[in-house]
Amino acid sequence: MNNYDLIIIGAGASGLMAGILAKDKGLNFLIIEKNDRVGMKLGITGKGRCNITNHITDLNDLVNKYTHNGKFLYHAFNEFSVQDTLDFFEKRLNIPLKTERGKRVFPKSDSSLDIVNAFYNELKENILLETTVQEIKKKDGVITGVVTDKGKYMADNYILATGGKTYPVTGSTGDGYTFAESLGHTLHPTYPVLLGFKCRESFVRDLAGLTLKFVNVSVIKDSKVYKEAFGSTLFTHEGISGPTILNLSQYTYDMYEEGFEVRIDLKPRVKFSELDKRVNELLRDSGGIQIKNVLGYLMPKSLIPVVLELSLLIPEKECCNITREERLRLVNVLKGISFRVYGHEGWERAVVNTGGVDIREIDPNTMGSKVVKNLSFTGDILDVFGPTGGFNLQIAWSSSFIAVEGV
Ligand SMILES: Cc1cc2nc3c(=O)[nH]c(=O)nc-3n(C[C@H](O)[C@H](O)[C@H](O)COP(=O)(O)OP(=O)(O)OC[C@H]3O[C@@H](n4cnc5c(N)ncnc54)[C@H](O)[C@@H]3O)c2cc1C
Repeated sequence: MNNYDLIIIGAGASGLMAGILAKDKGLNFLIIEKNDRVGMKLGITGKGRCNITNHITDLNDLVNKYTHNGKFLYHAFNEFSVQDTLDFFEKRLNIPLKTERGKRVFPKSDSSLDIVNAFYNELKENILLETTVQEIKKKDGVITGVVTDKGKYMADNYILATGGKTYPVTGSTGDGYTFAESLGHTLHPTYPVLLGFKCRESFVRDLAGLTLKFVNVSVIKDSKVYKEAFGSTLFTHEGISGPTILNLSQYTYDMYEEGFEVRIDLKPRVKFSELDKRVNELLRDSGGIQIKNVLGYLMPKSLIPVVLELSLLIPEKECCNITREERLRLVNVLKGISFRVYGHEGWERAVVNTGGVDIREIDPNTMGSKVVKNLSFTGDILDVFGPTGGFNLQIAWSSSFIAVEGV
């Protein structure tokens, strides 16, 4: 006889959500977590503020945000929508929420720990901490039990909520992929996504910490603009990051080996000719003032030496002596600082990853395995991801809902 109706492996966002739903359904369930606390990754989401979802109400609009296997989520989002997520946190967990720029939803307290603690307080009787699942036993197409470092546990149903492989210090070390493969699932190669780029330009180091707001960033492939993003870009010690880069990185995961170019347009709202006219007027009005002392009107101070160097302009040259060619070089740089990307920040810093369990082997109506009868998958282990802005946690909430519904 099995001890439990349901065993949930992993107490991250999706495992915790599945736990509450199992509790509300009156199931006899157990959550097994290898860390000494629950929701380690959940605790660092949204820079510690936990961007729980994105307030998009139209189902098609929501699905279209997921560029990688988004259609797979259609049923899950239909069954457990963004509105259901808001209601769940506000009414079931008593956490007041607020919506910020870009429809991003956060707890009013700005503390992800409020979310983690609310889950834990509801579930502590059902969680085994510091217990690592080492093996999942299968017989005749059915899971018969899980072997942990503390003993064997059995249930009628199992949910694999072990996350992906990014930020491994939080416990998401890709164990679930190994289990899925051992149970007969097909795996696709995994790549980290939603992360910063490493660039060859040494000047990025001098700019580390500087954020450029309202810039347009383009990834260049075969001499053409391949993908673009508008918003903030941050300089790091090794390259460029921030929301624009993170979101572009979902399209570049297989391009690092060859390397590629990224261009930042500092003035995306004005055309080249209009910007040239403005710069011309600025130079004319500034007369004998050195060029380095007037560019503060156009860009953050720390960027001026870099822009001047890239434009091959002498910083001390007086504005009235700048030639037409020099001015055009400057405008060219303002409309497209070029970076040569040769790598990314690595698994340690990526928000999510692509690849893993082939979704064709998972029923999108239940998240149930088509290979093993009593197994479901939830959250990051699914080969689906969305951009930054609350979209990935929404996968965790909705996939858990339909997985528990099916138990
Ligand atoms: C820095 C950062 C910021 C992020 N910010 C946001 C955000 O603001 N909004 C958003 O939507 N998404 C965000 N994400 C993505 C989001 O965190 C994930 O989509 C989400 O955590 C996935 O939940 P999960 O339950 O599938 O996996 P995880 O949260 O990774 O949980 C998996 C759990 O399984 C446990 N586990 C693994 N193997 C075993 C084993 N063998 N035995 C027992 N337990 C095991 C792990 O210890 C872990 O606790 C962010 C990610 C990162 C890295």
